[in-house]
Amino acid sequence: MCTCREQWKSDEEIKIFQEYLRIPTVHPDVDYTACVEFLKRQASNLGLPVDVIHPVMPSKPVVVMKWLGKIPELPSIILNSHMDVVPVFPEKWTHDPFGAHMDDQGRIYARGAQDMKSVGCQYMAAVRALKASGYQPRRTVYLTFVPDEETGGDMGMAEFVKGDYFKGMNVGFSLDEGIASENESYPVFYAERTLWHLRLKFSGHSGHGSLLHKDTAGEKFHYVMDKLIKFRETQVQLLARNPSWEVGDVTTLNLTQLEGGTQSNVVPPLIEAVFDVRIAVTQDEDALERQIRDWCDEAGGGVELDFILRCPAVETKIDASNPYWLGMKQGLDELGLITHTRVFPGATDSYYVRRMGIPALGFSPINNTPVLLHNHDEYLRADTYLHGIQVYRKLIPAIADS
Ligand code: ZN
Repeated sequence: MCTCREQWKSDEEIKIFQEYLRIPTVHPDVDYTACVEFLKRQASNLGLPVDVIHPVMPSKPVVVMKWLGKIPELPSIILNSHMDVVPVFPEKWTHDPFGAHMDDQGRIYARGAQDMKSVGCQYMAAVRALKASGYQPRRTVYLTFVPDEETGGDMGMAEFVKGDYFKGMNVGFSLDEGIASENESYPVFYAERTLWHLRLKFSGHSGHGSLLHKDTAGEKFHYVMDKLIKFRETQVQLLARNPSWEVGDVTTLNLTQLEGGTQSNVVPPLIEAVFDVRIAVTQDEDALERQIRDWCDEAGGGVELDFILRCPAVETKIDASNPYWLGMKQGLDELGLITHTRVFPGATDSYYVRRMGIPALGFSPINNTPVLLHNHDEYLRADTYLHGIQVYRKLIPAIADS
């Protein structure tokens, strides 16, 4: 019988992590009250001043802990994490998703174990260890805990970065979540793809379903859909031809909503189709828009294109011009960790930070672990969690002293 589990069970850092996981900050309609109380208590234990601010409304708090640097005039660092987690289907879980049960292998099961209460809690644990060693950072380090990342960040980070409080923090660099890795190598995310939510409205000849009308909405939809699917296929091929690529390296396009018609024997005058498109950083965005507009024209007119959402790509430089990255990379190298830089397949709060012109990188110290974010039986092994604390113990000084 391995004694590791007994050690992990009595480990103070593991206990704090489990306590955080047991607070059900789950969508929809998250109640952050208990979470904020927990974090305030953690800040007090760490001896860090804490502010709770409400950039949007009282029910959407942002918790900010401040670790004053030796040279507070320098741009600061934020270690960001989101407090919320996505919904669960409890019947699909082996253990209670808010129980933080540790099994014989040291796997801690809970929603948020990977995404991303682990990371938020590891930041605090690393600060605790660093403070105990007598270390003080050169730059001021903030630990920020934001709400509602999982619903797009509109009620959280998006507004937080626009406010006076954030301006007063004089942020130079942000570290936020990445994704677990199933092999040895850790991905570091430096960009997200351009996100479009595109609505196409196809107008056409209406009438009885027994006839052969010209210029129907259905034909126009079919023409454009066919072109879009062929374009999508080129991206599938591209990904297949480049084994080292991941989905964030290509453009993805999916039909997500389709609406039209009221009765089965009436040809509808209008069909509306909504697409989720994520454009690779290497793809010319304007060229793609022109191409889609051309296909709409070729379909015979009466096709309207509008953007429900259009978020331009923002990228953080990962070269010699970014001293924070150089510091972080050196720290990762000194730990002997293998890393690879990547474009994030989805969207995170780093987007809003980059949009302010502030470099932001995404990294989660989780390797050799199944990627279970948003999935049933999300778990993190206790040894992986504890190792992650050591990783941040190295990275925080590497970045904050750069
Ligand atoms: Zn997340």
